[in-house]
Amino acid sequence: MSKKTIEEIALKFDARSFFPFEEPFQPFIDWAKKCSTMGSSLARLLVHKEKGLFISFRGALGINQHIETPNNSKDICTPCEKPCLTACPVGALNQDGYDVIRCKEYVNTPSCQECRNSCLVRRSCPSGQNLRLKEQFNFHMRAFLND
Ligand code: SF4
Ligand code: SF4
Repeated sequence: MSKKTIEEIALKFDARSFFPFEEPFQPFIDWAKKCSTMGSSLARLLVHKEKGLFISFRGALGINQHIETPNNSKDICTPCEKPCLTACPVGALNQDGYDVIRCKEYVNTPSCQECRNSCLVRRSCPSGQNLRLKEQFNFHMRAFLND
């Protein structure tokens, strides 16, 4: 669905479409970091000014024009109290990196209630608190656990 939509937009603007799931794989994360609205967080995830730690990329458009963007994304985390660094109950995701195995083991234990539906680290970010949907949390976590 998103592929079809992005291809239609590309056609309309005489642009080239790129998708994260198609070869040759493109540097989507590096592209994202060049945007003025996104940057690296202290928890090693991309953080968006308004959406916080819930970001994903369905596609990108390439155009034959150079656009300068002021990269002020480094300011996103500066004034924050940084709850993302201590939100994970088992220390699987923090400034030292992401231990995926430890995370999945914990989420799959019967006693784990707090992040069964969504990652506490991602939810701890004050940016975008009012934009999150429970259904979106659940979808994200189901996809992660089935990966
Ligand atoms: S899902 Fe839970 S265990 Fe995994 S990184 Fe997030 S807070 Fe930690
Ligand atoms: S919780 Fe604060 S420090 Fe962590 S990613 Fe969000 S804005 Fe940055």
